[in-house]
Amino acid sequence: DFSVSLPKTGDDELGDLAQSIQLLANDLNYLREERNDFLSSISHELRTPLTYIKGYADIVQKRDLSAEDRNQYLSIILEETIRLSEMVKNLFDLAKIDKNTFDIKKTHIDLQDFMKKIETKFSPAFTEKGMKLSVGCRETIRLSADASRLEQIIYNLLDNAIKYSSFGDKTTISVSTSKKHVIIRIIDSGRGIPEKELPFIFNRFYRVDKSRARTLGGTGLGLAIVKELVHAHGGTISVWSREGEGTVFELVFKGETE
Ligand code: ADP
Repeated sequence: DFSVSLPKTGDDELGDLAQSIQLLANDLNYLREERNDFLSSISHELRTPLTYIKGYADIVQKRDLSAEDRNQYLSIILEETIRLSEMVKNLFDLAKIDKNTFDIKKTHIDLQDFMKKIETKFSPAFTEKGMKLSVGCRETIRLSADASRLEQIIYNLLDNAIKYSSFGDKTTISVSTSKKHVIIRIIDSGRGIPEKELPFIFNRFYRVDKSRARTLGGTGLGLAIVKELVHAHGGTISVWSREGEGTVFELVFKGETE
């Protein structure tokens, strides 16, 4: 552990210095613990799909199965392989973010145009599940951002909106401005998030309902990546949610002054 022992000299400057160094050491310890937790989560999370893959591959190879069972087991193997490669890709992104080797190539994005494309691209995924996606961006709003990263942010949030909503639900993307900011909200009418879970949803590997999350897919890294990408753009992200009613994710970016 990083621990510091400087003489406690009361209220003088040396005492203040000792206190500051101690606070810094606490931060370092915290970061180190966080990194260790992250590493053990990674090995745990990677092991789970591997266990499924190995187990079912073993059964398919050794047992005499009906065509139906065989197909079912192969589907599980495929699903878990996809999950595994998604997780590796997400971890790779996070590692780059952590090392600060993530380049943000900002361009001037016309959000009206950008969101129209998003709507066209993602609507089929909503329609397929009996849900609806709509985009509201009335005026021409420009944002200086990395277009592919912004798409990744919106994609992760829409992907969740689909996963955690049901037939008949609706998701809206609204874009607006205040004096100095551009505000993008992703509003869904899905199942919502319990209040006590809200502080944790941006943590790496955190999922509200572990067992149900498995059948829905996902890695528990989506929102952690969103948060990092938003911060890398100098923006902020907040969430409001009510169980059974829906969820709002709000992104606030500094506006472009021309
Ligand atoms: P996952 O891969 O599990 O979706 P995320 O990091 O994207 O991981 O999200 C973390 C958790 O937050 C999810 O498991 C889910 O429980 C909750 N969550 C995220 N977005 C929504 C949403 N739009 N509606 C309800 N719950 C959500």
